[in-house]
Amino acid sequence: MTPAGPIDGKRRRKAAVLGATGTVGQRFVSLLAEHPWFELAALTTSERNAGKRYADAVHWHLPGEIPARAAGMTLVPTTPDLDAELCFSALPHEAAVEHEAALAKSGHQVFSNVKTHRMDEDVPLVIAEVNPDHLDALRVQRKRRAWTGSIVANGNCSAIGFALAAGPLQRAFGIERAIVTTLQALSGAGYPGVASLDAMDNIVPFINEEEEKLAEESRKFLGGWDGARFSPATFAFSAHCNRVPVRDGHTETVSVTLRGAPKIADVIGALRSFRGKPQELCLPTAPEHPLIVRDEPDRPQAALDRDAERGMAVTVGRVREDPVLGVKFVLLSHNTVRGAAGASVLNAELAVADGLV
Ligand code: NAP
Repeated sequence: MTPAGPIDGKRRRKAAVLGATGTVGQRFVSLLAEHPWFELAALTTSERNAGKRYADAVHWHLPGEIPARAAGMTLVPTTPDLDAELCFSALPHEAAVEHEAALAKSGHQVFSNVKTHRMDEDVPLVIAEVNPDHLDALRVQRKRRAWTGSIVANGNCSAIGFALAAGPLQRAFGIERAIVTTLQALSGAGYPGVASLDAMDNIVPFINEEEEKLAEESRKFLGGWDGARFSPATFAFSAHCNRVPVRDGHTETVSVTLRGAPKIADVIGALRSFRGKPQELCLPTAPEHPLIVRDEPDRPQAALDRDAERGMAVTVGRVREDPVLGVKFVLLSHNTVRGAAGASVLNAELAVADGLV
């Protein structure tokens, strides 16, 4: 696949990373440092690190060196006058409450990973392959709020994994019921995250607000947009969320009832053939296959499959009959790439390609 060039042929857009020193912020920095359409122009921090060189302030914990473009940049506080057209937000919720709407009001296009605005009635919550049409809500958002900028949200990391795999099933058959059990990586809690004495040799069967977010965000992703409002999908849903001692990569076991009780071969066919608008448009961050279906009985595994397609593909395996709900499978999604920074960058590429920002 040949990645598309900048959509208008010339202009590279300046991009800021908000919360650039954190777990998701570092992923943004690594994805944007050499991005063909976007130019890393500002890295923000809390007041405590403002004025420091990025390389001096960040506790870099991704493989490889800090990208040269970012290493020497001076960290700045998050303010509404940032010199960047696009703002990729990896802020804590409290900081997002203070800054995201203010940035949108002052003309910035904010692509957020934070829970703060995900469920707002005029904020599109988007997985670029699943519900790209929801970006049309930006028209309504700008008009209603009198903003020249905007906010586009991406979901909670476990909701993105589920909804990306469930998207083609909802489209092909319709989902009636789903039960999801997550085994979520430590990096999902940020840095330093879960204390090592709580994490090692252990499984923690509770993640604050996670089950609620997984339910409501999945319904928004898989629901409709009629040009004026969102209508959440109506399937019955139950989630169990657990923290497990894995560094990166959320595993989810899923049981679903699909309308018409399709054959397993047809379910696998719908998953395997799934492509979306990012693939049609050859967007730079798009995986060639958003879903990879594996046939081995013991895959996906976090250690082996989380980096599939640079972390942008969700790997599905063990698709088989479920004696209670009809169909069951396992999925794995890289929580800080597909479940966070990579998904936001892809949303921004789609919005640029669609002429919406
Ligand atoms: P994190 O590792 O704790 O990082 C948050 C960063 O924000 C810190 O490095 C902090 O660093 C910075 N910060 C605090 N106040 C700031 C401000 N006013 N302006 C700029 N930067 C500020 O957390 P994370 O895991 O990256 O999560 C970031 C956000 O993404 C959270 O809202 C989280 O819920 C969401 N999210 C995380 C994941 C995941 O897998 N981890 C997935 C999806 C969504 P300094 O003090 O150095 O500035």
